Amino acid sequence: MTFYRTAQDALENAVFATVETCVCCGEPASGPTVVYDMELPPTGKLHHFLMHRDCALTMAQRMICDAFPNRAR
Ligand SMILES: [Zn+2]
Repeated sequence: MTFYRTAQDALENAVFATVETCVCCGEPASGPTVVYDMELPPTGKLHHFLMHRDCALTMAQRMICDAFPNRAR
């Protein structure tokens, strides 16, 4: 994951295909942006997925809340 001050900075530094809508809320990426690189099934090709900074924070907190209590299972 990489943080950019603006979505424009993220787009200018993209080396893979870019999904320009926030993968969390579906709105166009704007402002402080987190980029996550992952393979897009079934293509097997790397893509940049953009998230609003605040959406990324919420998603990370939810992942921790879901995963941490179940870490030993
Ligand atoms: Zn968002």
